[in-house]
Amino acid sequence: MCGIVAYVGEQKAYPIIIKGLQRLEYRGYDSAGVALLENKSIEILKQAGKVSDLESYAANKNTNGHIGIGHTRWATHGVPNEINAHPHNSGDGKLAIIHNGIIENYDSLKKALQEKGHQFESDTDTEVLIHLIEDIKNHENCSLFEAVRLVLNEVIGAYAIVVIEKGTTDEFIAARKGSPLVIGVGEGEYFVASDASPIIEYTRNVVYLEDGEIARINKSEELDIKTISNVKKTPYIHELELSLDSIEKGGFSSFMLKEIFEQPKSIIDTLRGRINPTTKEITLGGILNYEQKIINADRIIIVACGTSWHAGLIGEYLFEDLSRISVEVEYASEFRYRNPIINKNDVVLAISQSGETADSLAALELAKEKGATLLGICNVVGSSIPRLTHAGSYTHAGPEIGVASTKAFTTQIIVLALMAIKMAHKKGTITISKYHEIITELELIPEKIEKILKKNDQIEKIAEKFKNATNFLYLGRGYNFPVALEGALKLKEISYIHAEGYPAAEMKHGPIALIDDNMPIVVIATKKGNYDKVVSNIQEVKARGGRLIAIVTEGDKTVKELADYCIEVPDSFDGLSPLLTNIPLQLLSYHIALMRGCNVDMPRNLAKSVTVE
Ligand code: GLU
Repeated sequence: MCGIVAYVGEQKAYPIIIKGLQRLEYRGYDSAGVALLENKSIEILKQAGKVSDLESYAANKNTNGHIGIGHTRWATHGVPNEINAHPHNSGDGKLAIIHNGIIENYDSLKKALQEKGHQFESDTDTEVLIHLIEDIKNHENCSLFEAVRLVLNEVIGAYAIVVIEKGTTDEFIAARKGSPLVIGVGEGEYFVASDASPIIEYTRNVVYLEDGEIARINKSEELDIKTISNVKKTPYIHELELSLDSIEKGGFSSFMLKEIFEQPKSIIDTLRGRINPTTKEITLGGILNYEQKIINADRIIIVACGTSWHAGLIGEYLFEDLSRISVEVEYASEFRYRNPIINKNDVVLAISQSGETADSLAALELAKEKGATLLGICNVVGSSIPRLTHAGSYTHAGPEIGVASTKAFTTQIIVLALMAIKMAHKKGTITISKYHEIITELELIPEKIEKILKKNDQIEKIAEKFKNATNFLYLGRGYNFPVALEGALKLKEISYIHAEGYPAAEMKHGPIALIDDNMPIVVIATKKGNYDKVVSNIQEVKARGGRLIAIVTEGDKTVKELADYCIEVPDSFDGLSPLLTNIPLQLLSYHIALMRGCNVDMPRNLAKSVTVE
């Protein structure tokens, strides 16, 4: 959360920073701000709200300068107003900082600084950090580079920071621990950002700063990187593979809609090169050397948050059903703090779109201490989780910019399915013919999704009928229970309608009390799995007057007679059906949110890439 961008070089910094912040807005949009250096002056412009608010505000201000820092905030400490917006100044106004993360011991540091006479303007933890840097710099009479290094040894928490100093127009200092930071290396210029999207149009050469590293970035010199314990490091330059098209809307009105419609293509990209066209053998290069470990594992513990956790549940059903490996799915934030039992023979698998989710990373750290094998399923190449884990597989979905996850979810299920099917094949827990049947179904998924996407107009009409509802219930069983959870989450996230997902049979243990003539109930009732049982649950809803939207298999007659609205999806192997049933639910949430005037790409209070606990 929070997007940071910085530039030093010969170009004008402001337009580069603003454009970069717009690309990073998925990370937070509570406020935005820039600090620009010119000669001996430092100009700070900040506004509550979105980057566009900052742009309008800055339109008639001085935005000169060839070095600058910018920030788009997802507030953790202090309300999202102008005062708490970054950049923050030191007390003497000579230094300015942008920060992504949380300084956990900010309170004690703040008290100590206040006793020394420091006065604070904002409620943020970040302002404490810059005052501490100022204090140490003055006290030790050292360079900014050294002062930042010394301070970071006193700080507990997570950070990606960039600090500039009045009068120093050719360099700034950047550091990270627990929050991502990429340095773009140009000709006589450098870029710093939370991810590569603000950098891509200027250079493909990037250095990923490692946790606990600090860099002095001078436009006319090589990068000067060391650890916070003062060990010199040699930067390693990676070449970016990201394309500019992939981070733009490409004719769609929102990133979310683009990403929903991109799913057939992103699934093809996820599958690419992983199924041999002749033998149909699955190869996941990233876990090749760990297959035996997975097969012999006592259990797989999947750790994840939000939508990735729902994908994890589908993974659990796939692994247990097909490969007979025991799986537990844990909320990373609970797992890491509940003193869990983790053994050397456990495989801990983190699922995270960004690869930066703070709780999932911490859960992996814990598992590492206990000697477990660590795996990751992530979308962002080179992010922290893939770097921490022993092995893993990328989803290759392309950048997901809409805050509500769509294509990341479907491609996570694809990778989980590939892993589970591969292990089942290797272990012999499914027959050869079953293996080939599932692979055939898997390869058909993209075209089946295309078919469902053609129902967009029908789904929009259904959305129109339900746009004013205040509550929704989503029901599903078996493989489609996690889809019910995900459907409800998506609606909550972007339309602000209260929604709950439930296992269909559990409904009678509580939520059935909520059902009346006004309550919309979305039921996933595909032919496979527990179809007859779901039909009974539908009858129970019907008997209490609920309004039913059903996701059914093409050609279904029984549910059609019972439900008020039906959306058909093609038939498939039960374990892959979530890839299909989830699509109409994404579109339903999308249309309802749009009709309610909500910003689907930037839902209130949310942000992507949750780098705070
Ligand atoms: N803790 C800082 C603030 O509240 C940064 C927040 C973040 O990175 O999400 O301003």
